[in-house]
Amino acid sequence: MSVYLNELFTRHLGRVLAQEPVSDDPEEMNWRLFFAHSQDMQGFAADIFVGGPSERRHPTDSSFRGLRERWGRDSKALITDLGSLWAEVQARKALEQLTLGSRGGSVDQGIAVLRSSGRLGAMVFADTLDSFKTGRGSRKTNKMIRAYVQNSALLLNHGASFRQYLQTFAQGSAFPPQTSAACFEATARDRIERDFYNVGPQLANYLISDWLLGLWKDGCIDWFESYKKDSVHEQAIEHGLLPREAGENFIDFCRTVHIPPEYGAVSGKPCPPRVLNACLWQDGNRSSGIQTKPRPVSPRRQVQQAVARDVNRSTRSCELIEEFRDNDRGYCAWLAAHRDGYVLNVNRRPKADYLKLHRPDCPYIVGPIQRQQRLTQGYIKICSVAEADLVAWCRKRFRVEPQSNCYCLSRIP
Ligand SMILES: [Zn+2]
Repeated sequence: MSVYLNELFTRHLGRVLAQEPVSDDPEEMNWRLFFAHSQDMQGFAADIFVGGPSERRHPTDSSFRGLRERWGRDSKALITDLGSLWAEVQARKALEQLTLGSRGGSVDQGIAVLRSSGRLGAMVFADTLDSFKTGRGSRKTNKMIRAYVQNSALLLNHGASFRQYLQTFAQGSAFPPQTSAACFEATARDRIERDFYNVGPQLANYLISDWLLGLWKDGCIDWFESYKKDSVHEQAIEHGLLPREAGENFIDFCRTVHIPPEYGAVSGKPCPPRVLNACLWQDGNRSSGIQTKPRPVSPRRQVQQAVARDVNRSTRSCELIEEFRDNDRGYCAWLAAHRDGYVLNVNRRPKADYLKLHRPDCPYIVGPIQRQQRLTQGYIKICSVAEADLVAWCRKRFRVEPQSNCYCLSRIP
């Protein structure tokens, strides 16, 4: 592995693997794939527009409430309301007219079509869009409005479920795909591009990659190749940060890169392009999007780091509790490798009245990671695979029990 790649993994792989993929669940797939990933134009961040516990918050408008929160019901009802609009001749003609050529009318006209439909889902969609302030350089478009209506109509042929739509590409084999996703994902991407309005090859990749990531992390599939190319990725290739082969065929190159040993069940597996790409993105966005060439680590330093990792590993077996202070990277690597574990969130100088227990998939744990906040500075993390270890830790230090009232602890796994 190249020096840069080694460094890239050390800096970002833990955080990338600790992020929550899209689970193989029809409701989650509708919201987080169909609604949040099927439109992404001129910087229009559909994931922020849609919202939800796993999506980014609006960066400049903290009062913005996303579509999912405003709707408050299940995704199928919303898809039904939007999709049935496409069957109405007048509304359909208006949306087609508004998206003709380059001069398609103002977005207010598109929003008016939704409002005048009398369908609750279309009206909530219109209100959300109206109150959504897009950033500089991005804009809301009628094509996007038409896409949600027309593509919802397509999903109505599949029980208003994006998952059920994907299932039609399994062609008699297991669904979700098992062991190899290669045939399935090639067919699915190809068909999504053809079937969906205003979804090109990049978004077709994006529409399935985070769900495939979940299947890969769960051990269902060994690898997958779908990923969304972006400018940060292209810059990294251009700047020669990755070996020449990566520029020639990124997917083939990723097959030759393996996940290092300290990341639990995915260790040793070939690295999916989606994962390497996310690491590159994190690296490129570290300093407000400015790509800086990282200083190469000297071979001597590399050896020192490797030795330090080995020492860590060997002590891990007898040390059940791990404490993470000013060590976001180590904490994320631990979360990625111990998804069944427990996390105690405590003050930097722990106090008896704040000893909060969580599971690694809790939104209070995952949210700050997604939002790229500091994770082990103001509050630090005490982690263990056994809840009893953390209870003992609290008793020993403070003679109290940890606060175990977060809903993540009572959920059925
Ligand atoms: Zn929790």
